[in-house]
Amino acid sequence: MTFDISSLHTPCYVVDKRLIRRNMEILDGVRRRTGAKILLAQKAFSMWSVYPEMAPYIDGTTSSGLYEARLGREEMPDGQVHIFSPAYRDDEFDEIASTADHIVFNTPAQYLRFADRTKGASCAIRVDPEYSEQEHEIYDPCSPLSRLGTRAADMYVPEGIEGLLFHTLCEQDSDALEHTVQAFNEKFARYMEGIRWLDLGGGHHITREGYDIDRLCRVIDGLRERYGCEIYLEPGEAHALNAGYLVTEVLDIFVKNGIHHVILDTSAACHMPDVLEMPYRPPLTDEDKDGAYEYMLGAPTCLAGDRIGSYRFSRELHIGDRLVFGDMAIYTMVKNNTFNGMSLPWIYTVSDEGVQLVRSFGYEDFKGRLS
Ligand SMILES: *Cc1c(COP(=O)(O)O)cnc(C)c1O
Repeated sequence: MTFDISSLHTPCYVVDKRLIRRNMEILDGVRRRTGAKILLAQKAFSMWSVYPEMAPYIDGTTSSGLYEARLGREEMPDGQVHIFSPAYRDDEFDEIASTADHIVFNTPAQYLRFADRTKGASCAIRVDPEYSEQEHEIYDPCSPLSRLGTRAADMYVPEGIEGLLFHTLCEQDSDALEHTVQAFNEKFARYMEGIRWLDLGGGHHITREGYDIDRLCRVIDGLRERYGCEIYLEPGEAHALNAGYLVTEVLDIFVKNGIHHVILDTSAACHMPDVLEMPYRPPLTDEDKDGAYEYMLGAPTCLAGDRIGSYRFSRELHIGDRLVFGDMAIYTMVKNNTFNGMSLPWIYTVSDEGVQLVRSFGYEDFKGRLS
């Protein structure tokens, strides 16, 4: 972290454009080595002010619905625009087809429902290879209750379908991908005749320290060789992994029931909901695991469970101190809400030219979403 946090308005996100570029260079390396195409899954990171700097390294964006598709079309205009939704709205579909150049359907029947309105977009079906190695049911599209993707038993390929997609990974390495591809091959190879593109979804933690990129490239090469089709990857996290911070200020400190409580001006429920949903404990830059001072960091909201976690420090904390949480660019801004009338964190970028405010928020942003 190479910027002065004392002058920032808190709470705020600070996205380091140099770290984004580092991630993009890694992703671009995979493209160059394999010829695969890489898209930004905007649901993880929709910070469109930095799209112009990301665009040269990738092939476009993918989206979960019309609004994200429009954003990709407007802010990364030279890239492809893909879309997947479990079901499309009839009243939006014509605009979706004018906006997206690749449309992925959840079932063959969804495709057939809209097939005559796709305006030349390349269409695909999402399949469920029924193979997943992750423990979080909420993030597992292959669980028995999953509505995402078509199982092999229900599969057929209507005329006009050019692609298949599977998305089963979440923060995983390429060994999980390799095993998933084996399951895909066993179940869906017979549907690959005439298929021009295969999308391996997101969840590839390519930019994480220690990720096995060589194996990823071998898997992609193997698929291209076997099926002779274009390969897409559409990670979200990997683009902005570890590239952003959340800066917050200590509002109060007190002891209750023997616990040293710190009230921050940020909220897990509002500003980092995955902390509660996943759940996980976000990294804190000046944490000292052996430190003598232990604090329970919590939010100024009414939700009893709105805690970020227990952290140790080598120094005593004081009112007005600032703390910096790491890995806060992804699945944060896109999930923010104003529960309890909490303010939305301002958004800054940092680069070699210094810190720049790109967006401030205030009362009107809270009021404007209500009526
Ligand atoms: C969530 C999602 C992605 C991106 O996943 P990350 O874990 O952010 O890499 C890509 N494709 C689909 C279909 C998704 O649902």
